[in-house]
Amino acid sequence: MRVLPYHLPLVAERGEGPLVWDADGNEYIDLNMAYGPLIFGHRPKPIIEAVIRQIAERGSQLGFPTEVSARAAEKLKRFYPGIDLVRFCNSGTEAMMFAARLARTVTRRKKIIVFEGNYHGWSDALFHQYHAPIEQLGHDGFAPALPGTLGMDGAPHDLIVLRFNDLEMLERCLEKFDGSVAAVVMEPIMGNSGVLPPEPEFLEGARELTCEHDVLLVFDEVITGLRVAAGGAQELYGLTPDITIVSKALGAGFPIAACGAPREFMEFVAQGKLFHGGVYAGNALVTAAAEAVLDQIIADPDGIYQHLHAVGNELAHGLREIMTRLRIPHIVQHVGPMISLFLTTTEVEKFKDYRTVRQYCDFEKYIRFQHELQRLGVYFHPNQFEPMFLSTAHTEEHIDKVLERIEAGAKRCLIP
Ligand code: PMP
Repeated sequence: MRVLPYHLPLVAERGEGPLVWDADGNEYIDLNMAYGPLIFGHRPKPIIEAVIRQIAERGSQLGFPTEVSARAAEKLKRFYPGIDLVRFCNSGTEAMMFAARLARTVTRRKKIIVFEGNYHGWSDALFHQYHAPIEQLGHDGFAPALPGTLGMDGAPHDLIVLRFNDLEMLERCLEKFDGSVAAVVMEPIMGNSGVLPPEPEFLEGARELTCEHDVLLVFDEVITGLRVAAGGAQELYGLTPDITIVSKALGAGFPIAACGAPREFMEFVAQGKLFHGGVYAGNALVTAAAEAVLDQIIADPDGIYQHLHAVGNELAHGLREIMTRLRIPHIVQHVGPMISLFLTTTEVEKFKDYRTVRQYCDFEKYIRFQHELQRLGVYFHPNQFEPMFLSTAHTEEHIDKVLERIEAGAKRCLIP
């Protein structure tokens, strides 16, 4: 974020609920929620209290197994039927590295299929040029992954990149590489190229095809886990992957990620055959935060997700109504509290994959619009690949205010 050239500088001083204040004292309604984690808004009281209790009375890092981490794991499992055992990590990147290693260990195969526009962290194992220029993408629909940055020294190895929501391509790829693919890894609802929901038949088809080819299906629910539903995208679409990764909302602002799978897979770790480490991984402070998050959800799952979906729907409908009325070419796509406003160059019905977003979105215009809104006291990320995120602290009144300012900003800078 610090190196992005298109940001209007904003140094945050503090946050409270849905609001954030910068170092100059300006107030913003925050639609970024720290890139997704803050499902209860900034400074959520019960989570902070649990963390303070843990530090004050028991310690942040004990260097032994703790009951609090076991309880957090048990509570997480309630929502994810495919998880028997969990490893906690410090970040989504680490949990995804572990998932890749686990899949390769279980299947004794090397290749991993990922999708254009999906981000799975910055490790050499999985970081690829997920926002590659269109000319560099595979023309027949799949290609070896390009390194995502300098310094990857030939990595990622054995990664194949496919177009999302294209079942036929996945089938062709699995047939072509039959016997050498360890896993199909995906964000089941894409959130790193804007919000791109899966076509229901795509997820079902991916589940069937991976079973047929003895390939593991890995859901990277770093964004969607505990956010679109307590049980993430897998609950929403009624599918169980082989390996699940959850992170952002699990910590609600504290750095934790979890990778979970059936016991027979995790036995490799339990028996010391598959290594996973991390001095701070699963420390008592972050697992106390995760337990408090899960306790909140367990206490009122319906209330929390109904609220998140209600404010998400209100913002999405409002955005659509304003842009349509002002005749600004756009598409709004959302799943509950993750929302994308795409400003398009032409009329497009629906975005199903990264390529079309890249091709038909006006990124410069979106940046100008975002700058205007930031000046008007609404913050969302200036890159339209980044969704807007809401929290339980956002109320109808906040959304009304956001929409008023969106309309004012759109009139000022989107109408020729
Ligand atoms: N997977 C997905 C889907 C993500 O969105 C992210 C982070 N935005 C990651 C993995 C990596 O997580 P982290 O930044 O915590 O390493």
